Amino acid sequence: MSLLVIGTVAFDAIETPFGKTDKIVGGAATFISLAASYFTKKINLVSVVGDDFPTDAIDMLKKRGVNTAGLQIKEGEKTFFWSGRYHNDMNSRDTLDTQLNVLATFDPEIPQEYQDCSFLMLGNLAPAVQHQVLDRLHTRPKLVVLDTMNFWMDIALPELTSLLKRVDVLTINDEEARQLSKEYSLVKAAQKILAMGPKYLIIKKGEHGALLFHGNEVFFAPALPLEEVFDPTGAGDTFAGGFVAHLAKTKDYSFENMKSAIILGSAMASFCVEKFGTQRLTEINMEEIKQRVQSFVSLVNFEIELV
Ligand code: AMP
Repeated sequence: MSLLVIGTVAFDAIETPFGKTDKIVGGAATFISLAASYFTKKINLVSVVGDDFPTDAIDMLKKRGVNTAGLQIKEGEKTFFWSGRYHNDMNSRDTLDTQLNVLATFDPEIPQEYQDCSFLMLGNLAPAVQHQVLDRLHTRPKLVVLDTMNFWMDIALPELTSLLKRVDVLTINDEEARQLSKEYSLVKAAQKILAMGPKYLIIKKGEHGALLFHGNEVFFAPALPLEEVFDPTGAGDTFAGGFVAHLAKTKDYSFENMKSAIILGSAMASFCVEKFGTQRLTEINMEEIKQRVQSFVSLVNFEIELV
């Protein structure tokens, strides 16, 4: 059961109250693949970079077991670049710059060996490209998860709206849910968004956890209270990577199992924010992940007797 991941492989420049980075390796598909690589070894990546992208970053993905046969390298072109500045609360940020570069003309090619994919993670990217990937798969995967952001809601809403009818799970943050639904209450927003197509909706609320909606059911998972959040970039993608990889590994996409997948996604995201960029995701091990998941269990586990 392979997992097909599409999304940006990028350069990011980040400013947080703790410091500033020059161009470092980032991108939605990078974070998703790295997080997923701890749970499944059949990860097939589709993306595009320019010839300015370092080969050791591609080697780092390969070393984690990610198949990069579908990663196009465009000679003489530049990699997608994003720059953002976080506010003091580290929960909100301003985008300072988005340079599409190779993404502006990206025509995703699906290698034949990727065609058997059972799980598709449509990471943050132009909705038209996300549509193309679905069109180019001979059989629809068993589960299609979509992540997107306000940038695409601003410039490609019609394509995004039609894409919502083709996916099973949508993951967005609270601000994006409000923008998409034009509702302030997240409960009302969820009802409206579920009516637009996806069967499941995950609303990520940064340090305030994540909500899973399906029909009339709701599940809430907190985020782990951390002493220090260093850089939240990629936390949402890391969450999605852990989430979808757990479903791919267990081959069970019931609401009950999605609850466990959300805890795992949250645990992975809690590592991501501890250092700048992808660094923390390349150095953790399964023992640390197990301990983190256990911390989540302890955090929310309580007994109550009404008297
Ligand atoms: P997250 O913090 O999980 O929302 O994701 C941050 C990552 O998304 C960064 O590594 C960026 O390179 C990438 N990113 C930023 N803007 C876009 C965009 N418009 N489309 C696709 N990826 C983006």
